[in-house]
Amino acid sequence: MNSSQKPVKGRPKYIVLTGGVGGAKLCQGLARVLEPSQLLFVVNTGDDFTHLGLHISPDVDSLMYALAGLSSRERGWGRDDETWNCLETLKKLGGESWFRLGDRDLALHLKRTADLAAGKTLTQSIASIKKGLRVKNRIVPMSNDPVRTKIDTDEGMLSFQEYFVSRQCQPKVNRVVYQGTWDARMASSVHTFLQSAELRGTIICPSNPVLSIDPILEVEGMRDWLRFPHTPRVAVSPIIGGEAVKGPTAKIFKELGKEVNAIGVAKHYGTLLDGFIYDRRDHYLETRFKGMPLPARSTDTLMQTDADKEALARNVLQFIDDISLENVFGKLEPYDA
Ligand code: GDP
Repeated sequence: MNSSQKPVKGRPKYIVLTGGVGGAKLCQGLARVLEPSQLLFVVNTGDDFTHLGLHISPDVDSLMYALAGLSSRERGWGRDDETWNCLETLKKLGGESWFRLGDRDLALHLKRTADLAAGKTLTQSIASIKKGLRVKNRIVPMSNDPVRTKIDTDEGMLSFQEYFVSRQCQPKVNRVVYQGTWDARMASSVHTFLQSAELRGTIICPSNPVLSIDPILEVEGMRDWLRFPHTPRVAVSPIIGGEAVKGPTAKIFKELGKEVNAIGVAKHYGTLLDGFIYDRRDHYLETRFKGMPLPARSTDTLMQTDADKEALARNVLQFIDDISLENVFGKLEPYDA
């Protein structure tokens, strides 16, 4: 067994809730500044679906590829060094080709589908796949039970992939429902670690709050467990300058009648948070944040390079430390990082 395959020991200091590509960038930053044992990544599986008989977990895969350094920068999804022979052949055979599966990516889905068919849980399957990708970090799905995000739109109820991939987020969203959350049990390591004395904080990544983070929060008992530790819960805004860096977050916020800026994101999470990080380009919101009972800090949150990811990760960790100190010694003056 080489060093990358040794299981990570010890209790994590930070629990990190994440969705797809936006969240994965901050996770990469955190993974660069902390040892694998100090982090637990809890990933949205509300977008999971079955395609051509294969179990696909888009957000889990985005995170694994990002941590393995395999993500495609050019496409923004899937892995680099990809080929498309299977998809091309499938098209010629008249098979379904709307969901683009690369050859190397396909291998991952085959492995996961075989694991699940053999009776492994999603957690166990992720553990074995990430070993093959040489990823040391702990990654757990929000639940091993199926949860499916459904979008109630002006074109009717759509599955996540119908809305996101086939209809390219064009239909107007009236409501989002998370089917199965009531029966879904959270991955057991999440509540075990939330009770740990070593826990220093919970981080909500800059992912789509409605499509990527809410499914995690809606898993039965999750919100209650997240309130349990007396350590700071901090979110990073995925909306910068009133717009999403990518994807439909701003459009969905508008359609759901929410304020389309960092204040709207902070209000969306509400009392679950002890701290909020928004982008320095939104400095004009400072007075409004000062009027809210939530410590907020502005910094550069746009992650284009590895250095950006690392810098944001350090700022988030510093903010958590400062909030913890504030709880002990009283209020600190707000500042720009
Ligand atoms: P998707 O499933 O890949 O669309 O993923 P996510 O739910 O993770 O993320 C989409 C959200 O991530 C959008 O709201 C983006 O604005 C946000 N996002 C992407 N890159 C960045 C970034 O560099 N900084 C911040 N603050 N947000 C980002």
